[in-house]
Order: sequence, then structure tokens, then C-alpha cells
Amino acid sequence: MDVLAFVVPVVIVIGTVAFMEVFAWWVHKYIMHGEMGWGWHKSHHEPHDPGFEKNDLYTVIFGVFAIGLFFVGSFVWPPLWWVAVGITVYGVLYFVAHDGLVHQRWPFKYIPRKGYLKRLYQAHRLHHAVDGKDGCVSFGFIYAPPVDELVKELDKSKRPHDRASRGDDGGMTAGR
Ligand SMILES: [Zn+2]
Ligand SMILES: [Zn+2]
Repeated sequence: MDVLAFVVPVVIVIGTVAFMEVFAWWVHKYIMHGEMGWGWHKSHHEPHDPGFEKNDLYTVIFGVFAIGLFFVGSFVWPPLWWVAVGITVYGVLYFVAHDGLVHQRWPFKYIPRKGYLKRLYQAHRLHHAVDGKDGCVSFGFIYAPPVDELVKELDKSKRPHDRASRGDDGGMTAGR
């Protein structure tokens, strides 16, 4: 078997997932929390009934883009098919980590008590600890900076925030 035929797709998929995390961080920080994108993203930072948020439209856009790439990859340039696989894998990781683990949009309760998943969980609770679009921290979805660093950053920004988000309750008393 041709080794390259296996290695190239794997490298493309892993590279795309890594790129997507950086890209999503950038979009989240500068578009979604900026003048342009806050209109949709606001729905994710406000308390509301269970169900869809306007913010989910961002996921739809990424999904449609990936589907388009699957087509272009199938008919025009095969490497793009693997890029589309990478975007899809990232979408699944985003869904599990952000929608599932942090926001509990799945039908069971699981709060990580240790390790990296706990750090990821707490970091995103801290993202939601400040009201409004300004002064937020931790914009990534599968990479989370150490929690102490985020708390320091929040304290420096002097925006009032809910300290409960790093408490032992796992942050369940903090707003979304
Ligand atoms: Zn946000
Ligand atoms: Zn969130």
C-alpha cells in the first residue's frame, strides 16, 4: 500500500482541525464579539429557554461551507474533500465540548471533575462570566488556557464577573 495515500489525508485532517481551532478563536473574538457578529452571538450569552439560539446559525454556515467543500473535493480537487472531513471533525469536537460538555445541551448530565476536560469546562464558564460582549476571556473551543491565567485576565479587565464560575460547584451557578 502506498504510505502517502494514507499519510497525506491524515495530515490534512489533523492540520484542518488545528487550523479551525485558531480560526474559530479569531472569529469568536473579533467577529462574534465585535460589532458585526454580536447580533447573532448575543443569543448565546443571554439566559433563555432550551432550544435553538440565533448563534446556532454560525454552526449552520460552517456546515454549509463543509458540504460545499465535499462537492468541490469530489468533483474538482480531491484534497479539499479531506479538508471538509477536517472541518466536520472539528464541528463534532465543538459540539461535544461546547454544546455538550459545557452547556449541557444533551439529555444527560456530565460535569468533568478532573484533568483537561475540567479545565476546558471551567475556561468556557469563565468566558460566560462577564455580561455583554466586552472584557470576555477564553475564545477557543477545544483549547483552553490555564484557569488561573484567565481569572487574572478577568481581574485585570476590572469588569464585574461572577466568581462562582470557578467554584467547586463546577460553575453551575454562573450565567450562560
Ligand atoms: Zn462568546
Ligand atoms: Zn458558550
